[in-house]
Amino acid sequence: MFTVRGLPIYYDEVEIIRELKRQLAENGIHLFNKIKRTGDNIMVSCPNPEHAGGQERKPSCGIRINDGRDSKAGQVHCFACGYTAPLEEMISMCFGYPGTSYGEDWLLENFVTGDGDERPHIPCEISREIPNIFNIGQPTQNYISEEELQQYRQFYHEYMWKRKLTPEIVEKYDVGYQPDFRLETKNEDGTTTIWPPIECLTFPCRDINGNTLFVSRRAIHNKNFFLPNDFEKPVYGLYELPKDAKVVIICESVINALTCVVYGVPAVALFGTGTQYQAKQLNDLPVRKYVLGLDPDRAGNKGTYRLKKALKGKILTKLILPEGKDINDLSREEFYSLPEVYV
Ligand SMILES: [Zn+2]
Repeated sequence: MFTVRGLPIYYDEVEIIRELKRQLAENGIHLFNKIKRTGDNIMVSCPNPEHAGGQERKPSCGIRINDGRDSKAGQVHCFACGYTAPLEEMISMCFGYPGTSYGEDWLLENFVTGDGDERPHIPCEISREIPNIFNIGQPTQNYISEEELQQYRQFYHEYMWKRKLTPEIVEKYDVGYQPDFRLETKNEDGTTTIWPPIECLTFPCRDINGNTLFVSRRAIHNKNFFLPNDFEKPVYGLYELPKDAKVVIICESVINALTCVVYGVPAVALFGTGTQYQAKQLNDLPVRKYVLGLDPDRAGNKGTYRLKKALKGKILTKLILPEGKDINDLSREEFYSLPEVYV
């Protein structure tokens, strides 16, 4: 994995070099004729102008993908002409600004903070290991009744504590337990599959006035989520936000938002990486600063970029999470020592 100024870049390395090639071409600079992944390196046509004018036919220049014994990820080395540089310096050179921080800024803006309208279009083959999110049918006009919610308030379940919730948070957010959620899914041939009862935690999602719009669920024995169908996803946690909250963390999942709250920071969840409607809700709140705590992967990076565009009037920063972890995985101490950068 490439890094820039110590921050991880959660994009495929080949895509980064392809994007570099594309943006250079837009500037009339045609380099990286060949780009090929081979084991620990991406082999490219050497961009060093002193080597075949940067137009080498065979790719002899290696860009390391992983940290190795004697070189780090991002180290560039041409096996033919001996050109050696860190990735960011090579990028500065390609754009014609050798010896400057141009390459660092370019990496940061394009792949970490999601700056600029020239955002690369990256084909959408989402490879993150996300739990399945099932959309379940449910009437959307009426609020969820007290009677229904009361059924979920009968028990505490150990899984609540395993996910770091506390009794106070369970009460405040009305987190519940349902032993026998019945899921029905439509098959391609039009038939319906009725699944065996699923044990899950229930998370009522309330509107700003405290009415329960729907109940989202998380299975206890696997990572599946259940959300209603045909519903404009609202921001979760609006009603519970302290009225004077000036700084709020935005998470993808409910569990991550509740973890922030347990750790003492107001937070909301998007049930994903954000929609226009949710952005409007966030804009309308009297919150001064949002801190993005989206998952450290490509979808999270894309969400960051969209929210940056949508939340123009707010101060916006982002937490840099360790690869493969979300906020719920972190101890309080780890949470408070996360790096935070402006986006
Ligand atoms: Zn070379």
